[in-house]
Amino acid sequence: MTKPTDTDRLGSTARTDVLVVGAGLAGLHTATFLARQGHDVLLIDRRNSLAAAVRTTGIFVRKTLDDFPLPPEHLGPPIRRVVLYPPDLRRPVTLVSGRDEFRVGDMGPLYTATAATATAAGVRIVLGTRYAGRQGDTFHLLGRDGPTAVRARFVVGADGARSSVARDLALDRNRHLLVGAEEVFELAGHDEPPTFHCVLDPSLAPGYLAWVVNDGQHAHVGVAGYADRFPGGLRRTLQRFSASAPGMTAVNRPEAVERRGGPIPVGGVLRRIGCPDGLLVGDAAGAVSPLTAGGLDPCLRLSEFAAEILDHALRTGRPTALSAYDGAALRAAFRGRLTLRRGLAQVRTPTMAQAAFTLLRTPVGRAAASRVLFGDKSFPTPAR
Ligand SMILES: Cc1cc2nc3c(=O)[nH]c(=O)nc-3n(C[C@H](O)[C@H](O)[C@H](O)COP(=O)(O)OP(=O)(O)OC[C@H]3O[C@@H](n4cnc5c(N)ncnc54)[C@H](O)[C@@H]3O)c2cc1C
Repeated sequence: MTKPTDTDRLGSTARTDVLVVGAGLAGLHTATFLARQGHDVLLIDRRNSLAAAVRTTGIFVRKTLDDFPLPPEHLGPPIRRVVLYPPDLRRPVTLVSGRDEFRVGDMGPLYTATAATATAAGVRIVLGTRYAGRQGDTFHLLGRDGPTAVRARFVVGADGARSSVARDLALDRNRHLLVGAEEVFELAGHDEPPTFHCVLDPSLAPGYLAWVVNDGQHAHVGVAGYADRFPGGLRRTLQRFSASAPGMTAVNRPEAVERRGGPIPVGGVLRRIGCPDGLLVGDAAGAVSPLTAGGLDPCLRLSEFAAEILDHALRTGRPTALSAYDGAALRAAFRGRLTLRRGLAQVRTPTMAQAAFTLLRTPVGRAAASRVLFGDKSFPTPAR
């Protein structure tokens, strides 16, 4: 097999076993697994470079770091310390774990390295190419050289929270979304131990959190919440937070910062995520924790399951094998987290958030927060 590169054009590719739309972690992981099983896989992304337009902070939790071989050279120092703040930032609650709980990915290089692994496994990656629609098993793409069409036995929608593939396969679509935005910059040394600061203030982050992650190498300063509840809009709220964010007083902020942002589905994994023609993974499938809004662990775990199902369907020649890819069965494990999400959505005023801290400062409150932040719960491993 010739080793293609990520600058390949579609060329004579008119057929493939699996067309994967979207080269985020979900698409890259699904494509790599399938190629390793010997299938022909074409992975497209509308971005010209996977290191550009990053849409995630890139916090990986311990369970993901334990279970998936992420390139260690693209992960920041371990974080064990979390500080939770009420709206007035007074008397924060500090939680310190005895284990390394989080590491922040240097996401541009991490995506590039993951794409190189995919290419080495035999995946053909074509960038600068947008999925533009489907007629039966023919998929229309719009690339740098104009429109093309590809025939595929299956399509994988790894195209994010607002998935076009989900629409075209008539599968479920995300309706319950937060939006998030952050600024990222390099740090030139810092004395504070690596820390994840979280501010619970609905005037800054309506329905979610404002955060500062400082691992000693990079700082991420961000807010997320329900789009229609940001007073003055998301960008202005981020500016306001950034001007007085905790943990940033002794930090030299450079003039130029990287800006990231995007939608985050928090309605739980969708019910209908597969059909005989294809399936959804990652954000497209709603595979994000409704409570923490973490989607990196779920997207890796669900991609593995999706790829196993597709491998089986390709080997047996039975597209009905995809009926085992059932979001409704996975959703059951999210009930508790969906209830907590509804609770968080109800914290609508700073006074309510302030009151929640009275509970959080008790031993019971601290233990509950530690369970959410440092617990072993991850995306359910689907029954094989
Ligand atoms: C601001 C922010 C911070 C976050 N921080 C964290 C965090 O720290 N930890 C965590 O666990 N989760 C976090 N999340 C969530 C997490 O980033 C996502 O759940 C995860 O990255 C989803 O991966 P994905 O591969 O499904 O989607 P994406 O990474 O969004 O990839 C989708 C890809 O599809 C491509 N695409 C879309 N449409 C088309 C099309 N028509 N044709 C071709 N290509 C297309 C896009 O270019 C993109 O590359 C955050 C989200 C946001 C918005």
